[in-house]
Amino acid sequence: MNNTIFLDNNSTTPLDPEIRAKYIEALDACLGNPASNHTAGWLSKSYLEEGREKIADSLNTSPECIVFTSGATEANNIVILGYANQNSQCRFITSKIEHSSILEPLYYIKSTQGLEVNLLEVDEIGLIKINENILNHDSQTLISIQHSNNEIGTIQDLNKLKSLITSKKYLIHSDISQSFGKLPCSFNDIDADILTISGHKNHAPLGIGAIAFRSKNILNNFQSIFKGGNHEFNLRPGTQLAALAYAFGNATEKSVSSLKESHEYISELTNKLYANLINNISGTILLGPAINDRLPGNLNLAFPKIDAKTLVSKISSKVCCSTGSACLSTSGKNSHVLESLPISEEVKSSAIRFGVSKFNTSEEINKAVKIITNKYAELIQKGELLL
Ligand code: PMP
Repeated sequence: MNNTIFLDNNSTTPLDPEIRAKYIEALDACLGNPASNHTAGWLSKSYLEEGREKIADSLNTSPECIVFTSGATEANNIVILGYANQNSQCRFITSKIEHSSILEPLYYIKSTQGLEVNLLEVDEIGLIKINENILNHDSQTLISIQHSNNEIGTIQDLNKLKSLITSKKYLIHSDISQSFGKLPCSFNDIDADILTISGHKNHAPLGIGAIAFRSKNILNNFQSIFKGGNHEFNLRPGTQLAALAYAFGNATEKSVSSLKESHEYISELTNKLYANLINNISGTILLGPAINDRLPGNLNLAFPKIDAKTLVSKISSKVCCSTGSACLSTSGKNSHVLESLPISEEVKSSAIRFGVSKFNTSEEINKAVKIITNKYAELIQKGELLL
């Protein structure tokens, strides 16, 4: 990447060099299958279980409540489809701005099994509009609401949601992949029953994620969507990811133990990026919550009169940023998150997402501001305007 400034940390984050070293150590050590009953297997299993313990500790649950997956997409699919497998008469409540790995399995269940799926609307900054009539119902219900949004940085108040539930027949799941390692969101902080996370959003290698259950009893509400083995407490068969789990556990332990410092550092850089861009490009609008109330590191800025895709592609060799979730960038679809907000078409088309991480520097922010400001001015001057 050399001189390219990476400001797309909501899509993925760079591997932490310290974690890379641990990963390589584990790759060399873990030559056995962790399920094998011999010395090589036992050694791999010890790496796998150390990773599991670290994830469990940072989420305030026990190791037998952690199920490793390939990432948050798989974790979310197992939660949604596994709940429907176990409870044939259940219903679901979610929001319109969830990640596609929640929404797509729900659309699938609705169309193939005819199960009830309720999509909560959001307000202008992305906060869910809670409908107590939908919430409180007599049938078995899974409520799936993300902790923070990957595009507009809205942080939902899950404890308030929980306080409004009077029914006994429900579980709360939260996709915390964006918040984990940036905000306190363990089972001590959030009154949820199930949490899903992703390693590569938090400086661990790509290819691992997890489902965390508050208790073993809760895990029993889910039936495997796969056939072919009984690994990972029957929920995710397949040879276990020992070296990845070890790296993931260490990355998690590191970020959770330095949460406050990295939060301060990331917020300082994000505030600087924001202040300079709104100062240089007049009429710029911040989408989502106010700068100090949002997911640390996330900015979503609509620059007046410009097509966001054009600006992003013109600066892409120098600054990496995006117009929305990378998971849908090849689908040709517009962002369903922006579509859910009561904002004009012009604002939607001119919105750019920036994501700052603890590996960015103040100098990079200065350079990025210059590059974006100059390219914006050039496009406006050339008359490359939005409609
Ligand atoms: N949920 C959210 C909120 C995300 O931002 C992402 C990544 N874009 C995912 C789930 C999917 O994570 P993964 O890449 O680990 O499958």
